[in-house]
Amino acid sequence: MACKSVKELQEFVEQARSVTDKGKVATYIPALGKENPSDLSIAIQYPDDTCISAGDIEKKFTLQSISKVITLALVLMDRGFDYVFERIGMEPTGEPFNSIAKIEGEQARPLNPMINSGALVVTHMIKGNSVEERIERLLSLICEMANDKEIEISNEVASSEFETAHLNRALGYFLMEHGLIKEPIEELLDLYTKQCAIEMNCHDLAQLGMVFAMDGINPISGKQIIPKDIARICKTFMVTCGMYNESGRFAIEIGIPAKSGVSGGIMGAVPGKFGIGIFGPSLNKIGNSIGGIELLKLLSNKYQLSIF
Ligand code: GLN
Repeated sequence: MACKSVKELQEFVEQARSVTDKGKVATYIPALGKENPSDLSIAIQYPDDTCISAGDIEKKFTLQSISKVITLALVLMDRGFDYVFERIGMEPTGEPFNSIAKIEGEQARPLNPMINSGALVVTHMIKGNSVEERIERLLSLICEMANDKEIEISNEVASSEFETAHLNRALGYFLMEHGLIKEPIEELLDLYTKQCAIEMNCHDLAQLGMVFAMDGINPISGKQIIPKDIARICKTFMVTCGMYNESGRFAIEIGIPAKSGVSGGIMGAVPGKFGIGIFGPSLNKIGNSIGGIELLKLLSNKYQLSIF
């Protein structure tokens, strides 16, 4: 168990909430700016279908960059290892997630699939005849992982990002110039912003984390949803690049494979044990949930959750 009781988890949440005033809610996607910075919630999902939680776990938020892990899993299933990794690398960048800096040179091949340039190339690889068909394929994988058929896209957040995604457009055109993207950039951005705007609560997110923790098996349905080897690759990227350019510090201080998004979500996968879903929209300077990181630190230290 990660926590002796719900009461203990609630105490951790209250303790971690005290740092949320040191961060800021993301505003570069205008629709995200409406969140309450002091919100903080967590769900821990176990393979025996028990869940413990604290905070307002009904509150929905969008996946943002957390979606990058699932799209990676989908394209690895769609296209295979060689096709994917001919087009994107496996190395952390040490740069912010939306940096344009490191795609110059080396034939513009993005260094990894967790930064925006790499994620745009990954999203481009999702198979299907239309944006609708491609997003539906991603959504159905996510619904299967979360044991929830009702997960949808927040159209408000998707269009808010679509209208303001100047930097991602620039990345897209750069990648197109270098032959890594071969579809209209507006179409790709439509798909990418919809993928980032997939909306769920902490409990759903904890179930996604659990599937990675259990090597791609959903223990509730008993199905191997993602092949073991692909789940392993995704978890490894979560460790090396999942928390942007503080993945190293996070690995040392917390040591749980995790992926964050600018909405304030964090998905954690404690191998063989459980999945974690956190929502705390106040972000630190790197763009990670400040309360979420504090909460994971408390949990990991108390229950020795580091994989290292
Ligand atoms: N949709 C966001 C973007 O591309 C996702 C970034 C993030 O969560 N770090 O800017």
